[in-house]
Formats: sequence, structure tokens, C-alpha cells
Amino acid sequence: MPAVRHACFFLGTVLALSMANIAHSQALNVVAPSSKIPDTGLHAVLLGTGIPIPNPARANASTLIVAGGKTFMVDTGPGSQERLDENGYRQVDYVLFTHFHLDHYGDLDRVLFGRGAAGAERPQPVLGPKGTKDVVGKVVESVAIDEKYRLEHHGDHWSNQAMHATVQEFEPGVIFDEDGLKITMFNVNHKPVVPAVGYRFDYEGKSIVVSGDTKKSDSLIAAAQDCDLLIHEAMNATLLNAALPGLKRRNPRGAAMLEDLMSHHTSAQEVAEIAKAANVKKVVLTHLVPSIPPQDAPETMFVRGMSKIYSGPIIVGRDGMAFTVE
Ligand SMILES: [Zn+2]
Ligand SMILES: [Zn+2]
Repeated sequence: MPAVRHACFFLGTVLALSMANIAHSQALNVVAPSSKIPDTGLHAVLLGTGIPIPNPARANASTLIVAGGKTFMVDTGPGSQERLDENGYRQVDYVLFTHFHLDHYGDLDRVLFGRGAAGAERPQPVLGPKGTKDVVGKVVESVAIDEKYRLEHHGDHWSNQAMHATVQEFEPGVIFDEDGLKITMFNVNHKPVVPAVGYRFDYEGKSIVVSGDTKKSDSLIAAAQDCDLLIHEAMNATLLNAALPGLKRRNPRGAAMLEDLMSHHTSAQEVAEIAKAANVKKVVLTHLVPSIPPQDAPETMFVRGMSKIYSGPIIVGRDGMAFTVE
């Protein structure tokens, strides 16, 4: 074989082996993921737009806010840690909770595990309303056995702090004010779940509001005044009401539970009323009931009538959607 061809063959082989190694590393999930979100400005990434009804296209409730490179995961619904990873993050600076329905905190154990795997060396900072210490403490307790095995197995490569949490509980008001970012917690109405809160993020003159779970709430309208982006939960009451009579005949228990559900969430029409009353610049719908597939036709049906009330842009959220507030 001539020398040049030989060198090419050698280089090609090395390259192929390296590529195989990279693929193998990725399969083993040891390569740090990278995010497309810049370290400047204010951004939101939808990690979970679904509800507890299984839908492979939608993880449960979770929204990532990135402000000046700092990451805030609002709720950790089942499936959201995987979405976090898919969107380029192995861990976050802060976790914030809106309330403690399982579809909002069910992946906290995996978030803690993710920190351990990522090599975090301090506990996860968590912010939330009253009750957060109790729930987070129990989740930390539930992963203690896994942590014990990891520490025995990996030694110094696994920090004995990563799968722990430092929790701060707050009453509504400003809960964070650092490096130009202000986070305000406000009460919402998700009775019988009390407390239930939403969050407003203000950074460099831009703002994002995350509703959490709520029925139409005046405190949210006040908190969301003039914000750039409102990420609000939504149900399509027309579709649900149409399903109710048949459900009442076939499955009275299911129908009663659906009526309970409808009594503490917000209809798409009401989200439009809220967006108008709060004078927000753009609305994104999440926590979609029913959990429609992420396709144009059902999404068009979902928002029907909203534009008659609110004239700004309305976007039906899909997992992985990212928004930059400019
Ligand atoms: Zn809820
Ligand atoms: Zn929920």
C-alpha cells in the first residue's frame, strides 16, 4: 500500500473508531449535553406540557427558565428529567415548585440522581411554598438507598451531597433577587390544593410568568400585568363538555372525576380573557387537557375562539419548545 493511501487508511480507521467511541459514550450518557440556549437574556424551555394521562409526546408539568445563564426548573413532573437532558442540561441551579400534585414533582428523584451522575458537589437548591420541605425531605429519604450503593460503587467520583437538597419555603412575594433577576411568587386558585403558586421572572426589563395549576385567578392577572410571555395551563372545556354525557353513561366515576378536574383548571377561553386583562405580549398554553397530540389540527381546534378575545400571539406548547424574550 503506498504511504499516502496507508496514512489515509490509518486516519480513516482512527476516525471511525473515535466516532464509534463518541456514539458509545453518548449511548452510555457520559458525554455532557450542550444547550442551544445562550448565557445571556431571558428564555423559557417547555420540558413538559402534559398531564397525568400517559402521552409519550408530552412529559408532565415542567418549565425551564434560563436567565443570564442561571437555570430554574419550575416543577419536575414525571418525564421532565429526560426532557432536561434532551435539551442540553444534566442539572439545574434551582428547582421551584408550584404545588404538590404528583404530576408536578414526580421526577424530583431523577433530578437528584441526574446531579449525582453529572458530578454535582453540593445539594440541589429548592424554592417553594409552605410544604416544600416536607415533600422534598421525603423524596431525598427515598433515594438514600440508591445513594448508598452509588457511593460504595463509585467512591470519590460520586459526591455525597449531590442527591440532597437545601430547601427554602416562602410566602408569596419576592423570593429571589440576585444579579438582575427578580422572582416573585404569587398565590393562585387550585383548591382544594393550598398553597398553590405561580412565578414571575423579571430580568433586564423582560418578564416571563408561569401559572402553575389554577382556575382563572385574579392574583395571577395582577402578577402577570404587562409581561412579555405568559405560560399558562389550559383545558379545552368545549371538548371536555362534549365528552361528558357519554362518559356519564359509560363511566359515572370517571365523569365525576372529570368534573372535579374541570372545577380547578382554566379553560382556553379564560386564558384568552386573562391574557387580555393582564395585557401580556404573548401566550403559551401548557398542561393541556385533553392531552392532544402535538399536531397542527388538534392544536387549532384547542385554541378555537381564543383570538376573538385576545389579539396577541397564542402558541400551543409542545415539549422542547424554546422561547427567547426580546
Ligand atoms: Zn395540580
Ligand atoms: Zn397538574
